[in-house]
Amino acid sequence: MAAGKKFIVQSNWKMNKTFEEGLAYISAIRSAEPRFLGAVELVLCVPFTLLKVLAGEAPGIPCISMGAQNVHWEEKGAFTGEISAAMLSDAGARYCVVGHSERREYFADTDERVQWKAKACLKHGITPIVCIGESFQERKRGQTLAKLEYQFLTCFEGFTSQAMENTVIEYEPIWAIGSGHVATPQQAGEAHHFIREMIKKYYSEATALQTRIIYGGSVKVKNVLEMTQARDTDGVGVGSDSWDVQNFIKISETCAQRVSKRKAS
Ligand code: PEP
Repeated sequence: MAAGKKFIVQSNWKMNKTFEEGLAYISAIRSAEPRFLGAVELVLCVPFTLLKVLAGEAPGIPCISMGAQNVHWEEKGAFTGEISAAMLSDAGARYCVVGHSERREYFADTDERVQWKAKACLKHGITPIVCIGESFQERKRGQTLAKLEYQFLTCFEGFTSQAMENTVIEYEPIWAIGSGHVATPQQAGEAHHFIREMIKKYYSEATALQTRIIYGGSVKVKNVLEMTQARDTDGVGVGSDSWDVQNFIKISETCAQRVSKRKAS
């Protein structure tokens, strides 16, 4: 685990929740916070419409960081419907998901655009959570690691060591997202370890240790414990199972207990 950096439990709300629902979610986390033992960082990636108001609630809840789900790479201009990194930062975002497979599939995000978006985030002090991962066909053909290497080299082209250390890499096999088919801890651990080794190869051992690598794809209350045990795991990204705040609290508690045990051993 990166020195000084906490284990991440990320919730991706996707296109869900009204203002009232968002406030109720935060309020439930506020009540449950003592159970997380200060061991984990809860990153709530919420719709743009909720970011500013929920970020306003977050300072009273130290375990929470607010995040967005997408960003445009340009500073400003005629890009109707888009949001810049400066705007996200102004609204209180500390993280932003970049390159989620749903954005790649439905909104034409390419690895090159992912790189531009991640750089825009870093420029404005936002930690990009960069999603990479293989399709089912690629895994079946034995191309998983080649795909990860290609995405690593393209998405992080031109990154300095410092930029790398301020980035979170989320291994999200496309076949596991929203499908109910979670990767095995061995599959996730192999991918994480491979990513860590690439950071070592292209940057340094110190940078590899500082960069957080997390797993996302059908993480649920029932399987989160085993996913925290996958090799080289610095966090989990949770979609649908986190939309119910009580599930997210259970998932966060499991992670907090696991992290505390790891530290004690
Ligand atoms: C996600 O969309 O980032 C995700 C991990 O979704 P789910 O947990 O629903 O697979």
